[in-house]
Amino acid sequence: MTIAIIGAGMAGLSAARDLTARGQSSVLFDKGRGPGGRMSSRRMETELGLIRFDHGAQYFTVSDPAFGEAVATWECDGIVAPWRGKLVTIDRDGLARPLGVRSRFVGQPGMSALIRHEAADQEVHWSSRVVAIDNGPSGVALRLENGVTAGPFEKVIVATPAEQAAELLHHAAPELAAQARAVRSAACWTLMCLFDNPLPVDWDGARLETGPLGWVARDGSKPGRVRVESWVLHASPDWSRRYIDLPREEIGATLLTAFQALATAPAPNLSSLHLWRYARSGCHQDAAPGWSHDARLGICGDWCADGRIEGAWKSGKEVVRAACPAL
Ligand SMILES: Cc1cc2nc3c(=O)[nH]c(=O)nc-3n(C[C@H](O)[C@H](O)[C@H](O)COP(=O)(O)OP(=O)(O)OC[C@H]3O[C@@H](n4cnc5c(N)ncnc54)[C@H](O)[C@@H]3O)c2cc1C
Repeated sequence: MTIAIIGAGMAGLSAARDLTARGQSSVLFDKGRGPGGRMSSRRMETELGLIRFDHGAQYFTVSDPAFGEAVATWECDGIVAPWRGKLVTIDRDGLARPLGVRSRFVGQPGMSALIRHEAADQEVHWSSRVVAIDNGPSGVALRLENGVTAGPFEKVIVATPAEQAAELLHHAAPELAAQARAVRSAACWTLMCLFDNPLPVDWDGARLETGPLGWVARDGSKPGRVRVESWVLHASPDWSRRYIDLPREEIGATLLTAFQALATAPAPNLSSLHLWRYARSGCHQDAAPGWSHDARLGICGDWCADGRIEGAWKSGKEVVRAACPAL
């Protein structure tokens, strides 16, 4: 019987690919219209042509040797490339320091390319939001938002952000739901801007220690992008939480004003605002990829690890080991 996976982001796809490698069939359901999750790229048709903004994850780093091997393969296939932009931290006094010398990788031509690549040979049902999980004697069934029931499946892996996992697992696996409920994800207001001319800053990305912005990046400086002056501005987690309910126009205006002061920027040619409600989960001591034999349900996702892309990838592998020890 097939194993179903809810969520086709990095974690869910990592699990699916591991199952495929072990000869076990799987099927993924994702509420998104296409590949990306929090590694999405926003496409915008402009007078300069089609431009992509990495409005979620910015780049990823590698610590784990197994993940390093996967990254090397993706690099060989041209799916990812190192981002050699000049990155800095800007402190409260406005002083810029280099942000360390780790290799940073990005998908090309956008972050979502990696998810698209990983999903290519998997059975993924997009625009398929799961609203409930029913585990009965014949297996685990998924109720979709459109009224359809999928399954029953032999086992189900939930690979969504923690808050969404807690909701889905509430009745079917209360102990896993409790683990997910203990995690609080931080929100992130994101503004994408396109300027007519290069801005007068000598860095391509900056972490900011004060003010509404936490991170800004010259998206067009990443490999494989159209060479335009496109910027992604992320509000800090504290600021995003505090102003999550503020009208969007006020959010956009405040973030833009802060960036204009930082980078001596004029009015952008184009801008667009996005709210990531469950952006980053950080490191949670008690959260780990988990498996309930009784419920035939498991959890994975970045929140079960280090809150980053590498952690999401590893968590998918770990939950498969727990779910299918005999494979
Ligand atoms: C603004 C921002 C900046 C970031 N910057 C970085 C960075 O620089 N470096 C880094 O390593 N990480 C970064 N991250 C974190 C990184 O994006 C995540 O760690 C990683 O993408 C998580 O993968 P995942 O598969 O666990 O979750 P996701 O990518 O969120 O995938 C979960 C999937 O589940 C789907 N889903 C949710 N609920 C349901 C449902 N009920 N039914 C069906 N489908 C559902 C969603 O559509 C989604 O596709 C950033 C994230 C954000 C938002």
